[in-house]
Amino acid sequence: MELEVTLLGTGVGIPHSGRAQAGLLVGGEDPLLFDCGAGALLRLAEAGVSPLDIDVVLLTHLHLDHVSDLLPLAKARWLLGVDTMDVFGPEGTEAWFETVRGLYSYLADLDVSFTIVHPGDEFTLGGMKIRAGEAVHSIPALGYRIESGEKAVVYSGDTEPAPPMRALAAGADLLVHECSFPEPFVVTNHSTPRRLGLTFNGSGVKRVVLIHLYPQTIGREDEMVRAVLSAIGPGVEVEVGRDLQKISI
Ligand SMILES: [Zn+2]
Ligand SMILES: [Zn+2]
Repeated sequence: MELEVTLLGTGVGIPHSGRAQAGLLVGGEDPLLFDCGAGALLRLAEAGVSPLDIDVVLLTHLHLDHVSDLLPLAKARWLLGVDTMDVFGPEGTEAWFETVRGLYSYLADLDVSFTIVHPGDEFTLGGMKIRAGEAVHSIPALGYRIESGEKAVVYSGDTEPAPPMRALAAGADLLVHECSFPEPFVVTNHSTPRRLGLTFNGSGVKRVVLIHLYPQTIGREDEMVRAVLSAIGPGVEVEVGRDLQKISI
């Protein structure tokens, strides 16, 4: 069975290069949405997916570029006649949502349920097996491994290239990993190409798609791919992702 992945947003907090903020769609008829930053709601429509098809959203963390279209998504569903939505995310997810929603009395009818996720948690959604892993970021953050049949895709969210994410991604058919800056940037809380490649060398990951690109990456995309390739070892496909790119694994 194939697993369908759509990159909705491959950008960050600073808009550039036609890249919306974070959003990743996984699955076919009942897809799961991972993160919902600014622009992801429009990208959903451009991908031909109705807000009504998104019953479940899983958040990696609560930075604005990963959550700012979540309330608008819930409102879009409400306008279309459905007031329920299931949201999975790290500690603080419910408090964040309820604080923002609380500013809009007309959204009091929204019936959003929350499941708090911790690294190591495993559960099944829409026939897909989900496992959460720990990200290394400036606030508590998760990555997710999604398995359907024999296929596995891993979404890093925001993180440094780190051992927990390597463990989560072991043997995955596809790793959608952030790579915020090109070489020779030295950063914490985010990823750069060479460190990313070294971290996943020997992990068994078959294909890597780089997302979460800051404007500093403009014109450096090919060089970033080469830097990952030279560090990750032979036999791994590496590319820079683009918004609305569909990948079947
Ligand atoms: Zn972040
Ligand atoms: Zn981010």
